[in-house]
Amino acid sequence: MKIINYNKLKPGTELLINYKNRLHLCTIVEKLNNTYKLLIINLDTIIYKNLDKGNYIKYRKYSEPLNIYAIYEKFYYKIYCDFCHKYHTYEKLGKNYAHCSSPYSPYAKHGFNILFKFNSIKECLLHNYYKYVLYHKNNYYYTYFINFINGDLCDNYGSNIFPLFTIDHINYVKKKYKDINYNCSNGGLIASIKNFILMMQTYKLQLFNYENNTEIKKIIKYYKSN
Ligand SMILES: [Zn+2]
Repeated sequence: MKIINYNKLKPGTELLINYKNRLHLCTIVEKLNNTYKLLIINLDTIIYKNLDKGNYIKYRKYSEPLNIYAIYEKFYYKIYCDFCHKYHTYEKLGKNYAHCSSPYSPYAKHGFNILFKFNSIKECLLHNYYKYVLYHKNNYYYTYFINFINGDLCDNYGSNIFPLFTIDHINYVKKKYKDINYNCSNGGLIASIKNFILMMQTYKLQLFNYENNTEIKKIIKYYKSN
């Protein structure tokens, strides 16, 4: 939060100040040398405060949701709130309530419009896969699949092939990595790869910033024609 210039404070300016360990909305009534006469609005109380130490912030509020880009982490969207100085976590994109603890947050009334951009095609596809297995199948598949394509299961076989899987790859894993597949809840690894293929063939992917990307168009085409 920006600290405002001490000399620019005029009567009528609304400030947030820390008074008795709580944030309060107040308005400047009068400037008296180095001290300001302040009215704490909700307490209907007058106090006198020296404001040259920056122990205040200018009150502001938005009249519509703030457009803000989120990061995607552990299945949640996170935004950095410059009022609370911490991250707020959300499950869905678009319009959301502010999760600020203070009613004086500039976002309290209209919240945020949460936007999102993928950093890579891999991130985009895995994001979609998580959503797909969570709502349509079994979310354990996501863990098996991640371990497979990160090389924690079956050496680097999965990471070398991602994102273009076929039935031949499934048959190879079935044969060569039979025990690993068995240890994944008795066949969960194969099921996770099958579901990735099924998602690519049938699911409407959320692409956000990748709608016009030629590489992802090729991947989608590959699955639709197989
Ligand atoms: Zn906040």
